[in-house]
Amino acid sequence: MDEQFIGREFITNSVDDTFSLGKDFGEQLQGGEVIEFIGDLGAGKTSFVRGLVDGLGSDDEVASPTFTISRLYKTHSGLSIYHFDFYRLQEDPGLVAEELAEASMDPKTIVCVEWAETVRDMLPSGRITIELVGMGDSEDKRTIKFNRV
Ligand code: ADP
Ligand code: MG
Repeated sequence: MDEQFIGREFITNSVDDTFSLGKDFGEQLQGGEVIEFIGDLGAGKTSFVRGLVDGLGSDDEVASPTFTISRLYKTHSGLSIYHFDFYRLQEDPGLVAEELAEASMDPKTIVCVEWAETVRDMLPSGRITIELVGMGDSEDKRTIKFNRV
């Protein structure tokens, strides 16, 4: 991925803005990226992933993996997006952590992780973090910050 997003901060004013930013970001991905999403419930993590998956040229529908823990989407160019949500496994990530570690090593897979606190040890360094924060002054405004850690 070229580094146009890394170290930058964007403001979105609606869920559609966040989707578009996710789409622009997704278009830059090549496979092998691991992306950790940081932000409260309702911050827009899943909405961003929806754009990202669209930007990669997938027609798959992105639903929140909060209940299924993980979801897999495919692109027409043969990439996979593995979308994890550890919200319900904050006590013990169990075997899903192995699934995450394996997916993170696959150069044809893009890994997106929500609520990664319990599995942070397993995430590779050099991953991208995307932090979404509500702004307080408007219900629909978010700052979205990209970093590499
Ligand atoms: P998360 O995965 O972080 O829990 P979701 O993407 O599932 O969050 O939900 C975000 C909610 O916030 C949606 O209901 C969406 O309509 C709303 N929303 C309002 N403004 C924004 C924004 N700027 N970006 C993303 N979502 C927004
Ligand atoms: Mg979510």
